[in-house]
Amino acid sequence: MTQINISHAKKVFDDVTVIPDLNITINEGELFTLLGPSGCGKTTLLRMIAGFNSIEGGDFYFDADRINDKDPSKRNIGMVFQNYAIFPHLTVRENVEFGLKQRKLDKKVVRETAEKYLKLIQMEKYMDRKPERLSGGQQQRVALARALAINPAVLLMDEPLSNLDAKLRVDMRKAIREIQREVGITTVYVTHDQEEAMAISDQIAVMKDGIVQQVGSPKALYHRPANEFVASFIGRTNIVMAELKHSNEGVAELHLQNGHVVVYPKLNHLSDQTVRVSIRPEDFIRVEQEASLNTFVGKIEDSVYLGLNTEYVVALSDGHLVQVTEESSFEEDLTVGEQIALTINTDKINVYCAE
Ligand code: ADP
Ligand code: MG
Repeated sequence: MTQINISHAKKVFDDVTVIPDLNITINEGELFTLLGPSGCGKTTLLRMIAGFNSIEGGDFYFDADRINDKDPSKRNIGMVFQNYAIFPHLTVRENVEFGLKQRKLDKKVVRETAEKYLKLIQMEKYMDRKPERLSGGQQQRVALARALAINPAVLLMDEPLSNLDAKLRVDMRKAIREIQREVGITTVYVTHDQEEAMAISDQIAVMKDGIVQQVGSPKALYHRPANEFVASFIGRTNIVMAELKHSNEGVAELHLQNGHVVVYPKLNHLSDQTVRVSIRPEDFIRVEQEASLNTFVGKIEDSVYLGLNTEYVVALSDGHLVQVTEESSFEEDLTVGEQIALTINTDKINVYCAE
């Protein structure tokens, strides 16, 4: 298994710096996702790893092996792209055998290896079919088997599910995850879809404008986003302005615009200042009536029923609109115009400098 180390990577296209100075480490056997909005440099970085883009600065290592100047064919990588890059004139089996035959392996080894991977992707039944007679999901599984059959050190996948419909995308996420785990191959996965990234990854690097904002597990990114960009890119959040005032030792008060005070246990890394508070829709908790601290009154402006949950837009007493999510209830759902009282799960909020 292979560890990937990238330090001070730089990429320039026609005088435009797309990646200024990027550092990441991808551990052995990990499924590591590059996540960010379109144009942030995900494909560019993946192509630098593959050897299809020149590298203007920095070091790229596969274990102790510096690959910067290595020919793409010598880097021992498998790739799967968005558009099914399997050969239309070859059968499923011939597609999976392709890379093996190129390596001039023994015929028996070629056949047995291809069969092993066809089994892994559950496509033995279809091995004599041409790609045109396969669904999009099946074609992507063949592309994955073909990439894996050559036993690469590293697997690179660039938005492999974006041409599939929504239901199939969810099934394929699971299939890719299972196959990747079973093979245990170090994988770099690119997507702009945060839900897909959360579902599939061990670690995620959130990127914006060629800069890594945070690297972490899906849970860490959701619960402790390093900045406001990550907080709003991973899931949804409300941003509320507040004045931070440390009172007693270890306790921080967040004075919100409407005069309410939220007590937050530990904010030692920030001095007293204007801050922006990120509160997830599910971290507003409905309470029976307005108590003293940490409780707000508001009026329901809108509600969207989503089955498991209902999403509300609530106007707080200062007119500020917030999104609130609650588990739906068959008997009792809140109606537009209704007054409610909310408290905040203070363990879950995140506080950022206003700048
Ligand atoms: P992503 O995959 O995150 O959507 P890309 O890596 O494709 O983003 O692109 C990052 C930036 O680099 C974009 O601004 C894009 O226009 C630019 N770019 C990508 N490839 C080239 C190229 N071959 N020539 C010039 N600019 C490029
Ligand atoms: Mg891309």
